Amino acid sequence: MRLDTLDHVRADVDSTASFEQVIDFFARIDEQGRFLHISTPGLAFIGYHREYLPHITLRDLVPPEDAPLLDACLRQAVQTAEVQKCTLHLVKTLTYPRLVELRISPDAAVPGQLMVVGHDVSAWADNEQCLTYAMHHDVLTGLDNLASARHEIERAKREALAKGGRVALLQVDIDEFYRVNQAFGYEVGDRILHETALRLKNACQGRDFVARCYSDAFLILLRDVPDRNYVEAFARRVSDAIQRPYSHDGQTLQLSVRIGAAIFPDPVNDTDQLLNHVDEALALAGRNRGYSFAFYERRPAGSRPDTLRLESDLHSGIRNGEFSLYYQPIVDARSGRVAGIEALMRWHHPVLGAVSPEIFISLAESAGLINFLGGWALKNTCMQLMQWDARGIHLQYATVNVSAQQFRDKRFPAIVREAFKLTGLAPRRIILEITESVLMEDPDHAKELLEELTDLGVRFAVDDFGTGYSSLAYLQSFPLAALKIDRRFISDLPVSRNDQAIVAAIVGLARTLGLSLVAEGVETEEQKNLLLSSGCDLIQGWLVCKALPINELTRKFEAGELLPLEC
Ligand code: C2E
Ligand code: CA
Ligand code: CA
Repeated sequence: MRLDTLDHVRADVDSTASFEQVIDFFARIDEQGRFLHISTPGLAFIGYHREYLPHITLRDLVPPEDAPLLDACLRQAVQTAEVQKCTLHLVKTLTYPRLVELRISPDAAVPGQLMVVGHDVSAWADNEQCLTYAMHHDVLTGLDNLASARHEIERAKREALAKGGRVALLQVDIDEFYRVNQAFGYEVGDRILHETALRLKNACQGRDFVARCYSDAFLILLRDVPDRNYVEAFARRVSDAIQRPYSHDGQTLQLSVRIGAAIFPDPVNDTDQLLNHVDEALALAGRNRGYSFAFYERRPAGSRPDTLRLESDLHSGIRNGEFSLYYQPIVDARSGRVAGIEALMRWHHPVLGAVSPEIFISLAESAGLINFLGGWALKNTCMQLMQWDARGIHLQYATVNVSAQQFRDKRFPAIVREAFKLTGLAPRRIILEITESVLMEDPDHAKELLEELTDLGVRFAVDDFGTGYSSLAYLQSFPLAALKIDRRFISDLPVSRNDQAIVAAIVGLARTLGLSLVAEGVETEEQKNLLLSSGCDLIQGWLVCKALPINELTRKFEAGELLPLEC
């Protein structure tokens, strides 16, 4: 349903609940933008829990870039008492902002109150534009973002086709930029990115288009390209400009870059393909020793090394929303009831189908994307618990995996805090799973971090327990809630005395430390019974349920096939 003015529906806004049901977003706010009421679909649209609404304003739902537009619109509505219209982004379900057309009008009947009607117009606008916001909220460099780069690419392609010219798209990626952040902190990292943007602009001499597409990756669009040599010479200039030392606090710092390029219209025509091809060229450039530049090369199908292809596909996968979370129940083996669920990430590749998390998680780590993906997984899991709560499916907790690189990242505690702040979920309901080896890599840092987040209320479990070399002294000193016995000790449990002894020892250890214990990978009744007789009550595995997508799991809960454990 699309409304051209608010006026003709205003009269029955209050009385017809059905009106609210057909509008993507309807709310009443005060002049400061605080929510007084929001429609149920509106709440579902933005993805917040109702209890959390008193803590946010309409402005909090709008990315910083769009805030001035919203402010102006609100001001005008109050001053003129007329309907004001603006098109901006609302941060839907925390990660996927949608382009909405908002109509804001003062309520003549109730002074000081405004009505807001919003329509999702993302489908009419470029869908990618919304996803872009999900990944690039910052205005750090002042450069165009991926969304406007896409428009520019489209425009350049049209011009090239009309004039018979060629366009080159280059992606410039700073090598291992996360190390700068790690060594010097994010403020310095941000400053360096800012300066890099300036250097790139200079290299383009105000003539060529430059945008920032990921944290440390930039796009440059060259028009009227005579040949490949021209592009290559330009890439060298860019590379030289970035390799000039940066100075920070009397120290110098040197960066290196990889550059991938693709030319239009040879051989692609489609913007998505062109972007995918520069991703591939970039991955190819990473393989060239000494000289980090490559053109996209068309190869016979199947001849591209898998990791190379996957690394580039990871970027487009995030852009195209190919990632999702599945959830696997953790069950009390005696009652069969569900105590909690583990969030497990899935990547559905358009060609390869499901890619194993064991492959893409380490790829995301090396590509510097794991913080984005990990943060997204945490926020979505918090949201999911709230949404199940709202449907009467109350699970005690959800567990979320934390990768080694996330755990080392200085922004990790802030990302965790933000997830709770945004969703309003009680931190106690999230258990972060960290592997033994990550905890033991730097036990002092681990202890500090665990203590800091435990103060917030979050709990921790040691994942894949038994595979590393935990020192008992350290284990005792960490504030932990649970141990998860690795599934390699479970598979042969019925036949291996060795595994039986290990499980018995872990059960004893967990008792001594006062930790709860979960056995992973339980596939048979026999394994379950052995675990129960050893004293391990919580199990997770295909015997009970595989990891499932949200709708399937919700259906099982609603059909009573799975029942939550009472608190
Ligand atoms: P994990 O944390 O040890 O997760 C348990 C794995 O065991 C999952 O594999 C699950 O599907 C599988 N599994 C569960 N029950 C059974 C069973 O009865 N038999 C067998 N054979 N397997 C079972 P999955 O989903 O392929 O994930 C693999 C690993 O990828 C995870 O191991 C975890 O280390 C990592 N991972 C998955 N999602 C995320 C994520 O969101 N963030 C991070 N950092 N890592 C993740
Ligand atoms: Ca896990
Ligand atoms: Ca595990």
